[in-house]
Amino acid sequence: MPPAPPPSPKRWTIASVLQWTSQQFKKLGVDSPRLTAELLLAHALQCSRVALYLEYERPLEPKELGLYRSLVQRRSLGEPTQYLIGMKEFYQRPFIVDSRALIPRPETELLVDFALEKLPKNQNTRVAELCTGSGCIALSLALERPQAEIWATDISKEALSLARENHQHLGSPPNVHWCEGNLFENLPQTPSFHLLLSNPPYLCAQEMDSLQREIRFEPRLALDGGTDGMQLLSLIIQHSPRFLAPQGWLLLEMGQNQAEQITLQLIKAGYADIVIHKDWAGLHRIAQARLTPPS
Ligand code: GLN
Repeated sequence: MPPAPPPSPKRWTIASVLQWTSQQFKKLGVDSPRLTAELLLAHALQCSRVALYLEYERPLEPKELGLYRSLVQRRSLGEPTQYLIGMKEFYQRPFIVDSRALIPRPETELLVDFALEKLPKNQNTRVAELCTGSGCIALSLALERPQAEIWATDISKEALSLARENHQHLGSPPNVHWCEGNLFENLPQTPSFHLLLSNPPYLCAQEMDSLQREIRFEPRLALDGGTDGMQLLSLIIQHSPRFLAPQGWLLLEMGQNQAEQITLQLIKAGYADIVIHKDWAGLHRIAQARLTPPS
């Protein structure tokens, strides 16, 4: 009998490469293995996830395979999927993301929800956002409330350059103004704001020491809130009353164990109507307070 022909070199198809990668990711403990594989492959092929299924048995070109392999390798080493594909949806809009700023989190959408509650439609309100990062909060508010004027600040030049790219990417709404500076440093002093909000860095030293490996790819500056995580939150609470109109609102994203300290500091700074909202995981996440009118 003649010898069997040598096995033909494996031709990777969309189907087989997705199956192989999701198994690999599962072994490595990567979150949502199949979805991650699909997102990376769609990115490498510059198509939608749905399109992958329309040509499921198509073999991959060597160039496509090379590009996909490098994305899979980077993801396997911990790099977040959103940085690899350069995009993250926030408040139903696509934001450009990369290592210049924190990846927008779903719980931060709650901050936008509560802010919109405080900003009546068709009213000329003034809003300040501190530590804007990618600009996702300021831009979502600006697009949802075209009559509000929003000032957004960040100490990081890199983050602001990303926020400006997002601004352009989302059609350059004219009601957002970017300022580089440390917290209140370059905010206009007058007239005062109706709402001031922030998702500042609030992780404590212990949390910073045990960060999930994906989060280590994000800027420390956007996460590190000092020993107890309260460094920036305290400064914001302490100095915000000077920038707010009478009965102005303050909204802060915060760490799950900071509710008590935050409440005490808010009372001390002259705030009332304090509410600590929980996120979908049931953790204390958003502090809301209103400036007491001078008696
Ligand atoms: N919520 C973020 C995290 O858990 C932290 C965001 C922040 O410090 N502002 O990684």
